[in-house]
Amino acid sequence: TLSDRLAATFKGLRGKGRLTDADIDATAREIRIALLEADVNLAVVKEFVANLKDRCRSEEVSGALNPTQQIIKIVNEELVNILGGEDRTIRYAKTPPTVIMLAGLQGAGKTTLAGKLAMWLKSEGHSPLLVAADLQRPNAVNQLQIVGQRAGAHVFAPEPGNGIGDPIAVARASILEAQRKLYDVVIVDTAGRLGIDETLMQQAADIKAAVTPDETLFVVDAMIGQDAVNTALAFEEGVGFDGVVLTKLDGDARGGAALSIARVIGKPIMFASNGEGLKDFDVFHPDRMASRILDMGDMLTLIEQAEKHFDQEQSRKAAEKLMSGKGNEFGLGDFLSQMQQLRKMGPMSKIFGMLPGMGQMKDQIANIDEKEIDRIEAIIYSMTPAERDDVAILNGSRRARIAKGAGVEVSDVNNLVNRFVEARKMMQSMAGMMGGKGGGMPGM
Ligand code: GDP
Ligand code: MG
Repeated sequence: TLSDRLAATFKGLRGKGRLTDADIDATAREIRIALLEADVNLAVVKEFVANLKDRCRSEEVSGALNPTQQIIKIVNEELVNILGGEDRTIRYAKTPPTVIMLAGLQGAGKTTLAGKLAMWLKSEGHSPLLVAADLQRPNAVNQLQIVGQRAGAHVFAPEPGNGIGDPIAVARASILEAQRKLYDVVIVDTAGRLGIDETLMQQAADIKAAVTPDETLFVVDAMIGQDAVNTALAFEEGVGFDGVVLTKLDGDARGGAALSIARVIGKPIMFASNGEGLKDFDVFHPDRMASRILDMGDMLTLIEQAEKHFDQEQSRKAAEKLMSGKGNEFGLGDFLSQMQQLRKMGPMSKIFGMLPGMGQMKDQIANIDEKEIDRIEAIIYSMTPAERDDVAILNGSRRARIAKGAGVEVSDVNNLVNRFVEARKMMQSMAGMMGGKGGGMPGM
């Protein structure tokens, strides 16, 4: 996954305080591959990566996030932006009925969507009327009737054998029917073909002209990947639409189609279908799709948590102390506060589990003992401020007092002090090697 790749790219860069050009280029390369693998249109990928580089170069370095996290955050924000930013749903007509027309290729999921929409609209307090304006295939009307029955919605269809074979006439008549019977939303299901063709486009355009929809929705199968963009362009030119519905998101499509359509056509994606059942349907959420494309939802959660809980000022001071030449300015008190910030984000095992590249360490992570961390905290709490600042003053009698206060053995105190001094030494020499300022936790 992208998160593993990025982790590899950033190996050895942890704790680095700023994004170098080399970091940005390396990350951009990984993002590029990930987007192409998610089936995003090449032109869109190029533009996206160029924007991303610009933004990474100009962005202030965050105290709360390490470089990987910061880049992922930027990538995520850009994806959400392209996908439309805010959720957008149906704009209802001031005077009912609101007319929604569905257009798209055959098999895209229009008829199924008609049922899903009807069910959803009912749950929102509307009374929808389904309209069978697909008279192309013998079975189409019947299929819509079954769907309507499941959704508990009435279907307006030509009576068999009464001579109405004209989808445009049916669509037009349905509006009158809705007005008469007080349906407040009309959903017009139309015919699709396997490929784009003139007749199909013309018919859809004629139906559109006849019923002047408040929303014309272009329905597209997310599994068709790159083709989605060309199909969308053809429908935009031939019929014109207001919004997009992505279907079959339950398949393994990574959502590149969504990103491409949103970027190339510039129309909002309004709904997402993710199954054959009528309930497998939701308003489209750009942020969820972005994390699906990145395939790193956990990482995004961690970033959110880190930003919410991390005290940048405190972290910066601690890092400065740690990296200052004197060495032992960073005391156990600083350590305690860093640890507590980290804990605010959730259980340690969960936090470490969310860091990229930690996948291989699953077993150890599961064994991170919260009680052990509690014990460390208790020991540090039992120390005076002077002791926390300078562990060198911890003689035998002080250690005995601390152990007693914390309810642990003296050996536990010794252990903590030794491990702390070792860790501090290591971090200082690492900082010295990199010559940079410290980034602090998390991911130190
Ligand atoms: P239409 O030709 O555009 O009206 O497409 P249909 O509504 O008849 O759907 C074509 C096929 O796709 C049917 O077998 C549906 O059950 C199936 N389908 C529709 N939407 C979804 C979806 O979101 N997920 C999955 N897995 N199948 C879907
Ligand atoms: Mg259909």
